[in-house]
Amino acid sequence: MQAVVYRGKGEIGMEERPMPHIEEDTDAILRVTLTTICTSDLHIRNGAVPRAVPGIILGHEFVGVVEETGRRVKNVRPGQRVAVNVETFCGECFFCKRGFVNNCEDKNGGWALGCRIDGGQAEYVRIPFADQALTPIPDQVTDEQALFTGDLLSTGYWAAKIGEIKKRDTVLVLGAGPAGMCAMMCAALYSPARIVAADIDESRLAFARRHGLADDFLNPANVSVPDALRERTQGRGADVVIEAAGGKDSFQLAWQAARPNAVVVVAAMYEENQILPLPEMYGKNLIFKTGGVDACSCREILELTAQGRLKGECLITHRAPLADAMEMYRLFERKEDGVIKVALTP
Ligand SMILES: [Zn+2]
Ligand SMILES: [Zn+2]
Repeated sequence: MQAVVYRGKGEIGMEERPMPHIEEDTDAILRVTLTTICTSDLHIRNGAVPRAVPGIILGHEFVGVVEETGRRVKNVRPGQRVAVNVETFCGECFFCKRGFVNNCEDKNGGWALGCRIDGGQAEYVRIPFADQALTPIPDQVTDEQALFTGDLLSTGYWAAKIGEIKKRDTVLVLGAGPAGMCAMMCAALYSPARIVAADIDESRLAFARRHGLADDFLNPANVSVPDALRERTQGRGADVVIEAAGGKDSFQLAWQAARPNAVVVVAAMYEENQILPLPEMYGKNLIFKTGGVDACSCREILELTAQGRLKGECLITHRAPLADAMEMYRLFERKEDGVIKVALTP
């Protein structure tokens, strides 16, 4: 079968690989029907993800049809269309029981697919802990609508949830990339007074505006984001900030634009250390929540998608066969042709 393989620092390529097979009783084999490229795949290729294993098949955001299940798999059966969770988790350990699946204690727990084990930029893939990892897609939800359930939408959903957004809040989302836009969509579920989107890329702000993902749009290159937020909130600042940009100054903007006692969710993945200027922020009494998504809300996300309340598919700007993956990687990395997300069909 065809697959996109991480060959080692700086190199990826299309390769012919053998079909995966069931290794554990809790595994399932999936025929991938739609897959996509994530910025994390570029981080892996660049050698910026130390735990990524050279030789693995990339891809951690995809949907498919169950081909075969191990003896102990109960929740899904062959023939079912399913969304795949970005995280592998046992469902039974200390952290899993508390919903903190990102820190699952199993040796295969956490982000494994397309990083430490073969992922879904391929025709078929083996899914460990299939009962936890796979969620049936409702009949009325298409593959495109379900594609971002397990990673991007899970991240946006998690960020909005731990942001503790209340009705009439002003929510600032830094970064209008795919993760930022999913955070905006999910923040809207809490009916805040307004969602303010900030990004230095005007075309991405325009995209978010076109799709009605935020109410207000700021370019930090042209305006002071903290000032703009205070102007909109009687001098207070944002009630909730979701930092999904991971840019050079975005962490500083995040806490500066927050009002006292605000929740600042740091969902971005930085390539460098960030400075926490405690003397400057003393008295502001901020609550920082950081980290990697606890992706265990796929069922809710698919229900909200079926109800038309989440529209992840609006991020798909390009469609191509998996055979064209290398060309799509190039386009995605260079942000050419207004690309937000690509959908690849094996
Ligand atoms: Zn990802
Ligand atoms: Zn666990």
